[in-house]
Amino acid sequence: MQAYRWLMTAPGAPLMREAFEASTPEPGEVVVQVAGCGVCHTDLGYYFDGVRTNHALPLALGHEISGRVVAAAADAQAWLGVAVIVPAVIPCGTCGPCQRGRPNICRSQKMPGNDIHGGFASHIRVPAKGLCRVDEARLAAAGLALADVSVVADALTTPYQAVSRAGVTPGSLAIVVGAGGVGGYCAQVAGAFGAKVVAIDVDEAKLAALRGRGADLTLDARAQDHKAVKAAISAFAKAQDLPATEWFVFECSGSAAGQLTAFGLLVPGATLSVVGFTLDKVEVRLSNLMAFDARAIGNWGCPPELYPAALDLVLDGKVQVRPFVEHHPLDEINHVFHAVHAHEIKRRAVLIPAN
Ligand SMILES: [Zn+2]
Ligand SMILES: [Zn+2]
Repeated sequence: MQAYRWLMTAPGAPLMREAFEASTPEPGEVVVQVAGCGVCHTDLGYYFDGVRTNHALPLALGHEISGRVVAAAADAQAWLGVAVIVPAVIPCGTCGPCQRGRPNICRSQKMPGNDIHGGFASHIRVPAKGLCRVDEARLAAAGLALADVSVVADALTTPYQAVSRAGVTPGSLAIVVGAGGVGGYCAQVAGAFGAKVVAIDVDEAKLAALRGRGADLTLDARAQDHKAVKAAISAFAKAQDLPATEWFVFECSGSAAGQLTAFGLLVPGATLSVVGFTLDKVEVRLSNLMAFDARAIGNWGCPPELYPAALDLVLDGKVQVRPFVEHHPLDEINHVFHAVHAHEIKRRAVLIPAN
């Protein structure tokens, strides 16, 4: 099957289009014709910041993929023709951590665009294990295209796992630092779990996009210092009859400034979930965790078992994706990478191959 993909050959070098033959799937594998693949902060990290991919370059990046199964190994024939979301991290399912219920730390996990060729391509070969089936009738009823739900693979499921793992319940106060792609969904998911949500960012346009769509209060961290931000949240909590303790703080900005803001919002019994990634270091008084009997949780990916529930939130209209997504032709990938990096594209860019 004639296919093409865009390869990263070296950090910062123009991505190169390559034609390839989408080979016959190995046992347990399928070939997915890509409907869309979202551009994630992590892709930009590989491309602009020199974060290393596990697979040697050249490599097609992209791990936020939806599409349709167009070829399947003999043991995966049930997937033929099915619309799917490919999990951003695919655990092996058989190793010690997987069997102990810790698939996120599986050492044999496969991440498209990191361990194997990713979704900035017309086709991708992936393990069938963990694929999330998309009900196309419900998708159409929700007014969505298959490409739109590519963002479920990472931008949505990563915060979904963070919110569910942190233990957000109705009546919780959730604070999301960084209202970009992942943070925006984190706010919506926390709201869907019944929390009142405060969103903090340095970009007023991103905050405006979340008002009435996930965030009950938005705060511009550029317009006020840490103390004023915390005081505003305390006043909001009081006015909403929410507790002054046990706040859930989700660091989604993946920036040193955001991490400092998030850490500064610890209160007694707080939960700090680190969802964003940066290579930068921050200086904090770690003992605040001890003094506040608080906890900090890291989050890597999301187990495939949680994908159907996350997708349900979208198909049921509890989480909006369409206002936060914009489509671009895959062949404009070089332009789109630079535009996202320069913050000229505010919504999630989903690259659409010309299939
Ligand atoms: Zn990502
Ligand atoms: Zn495993």
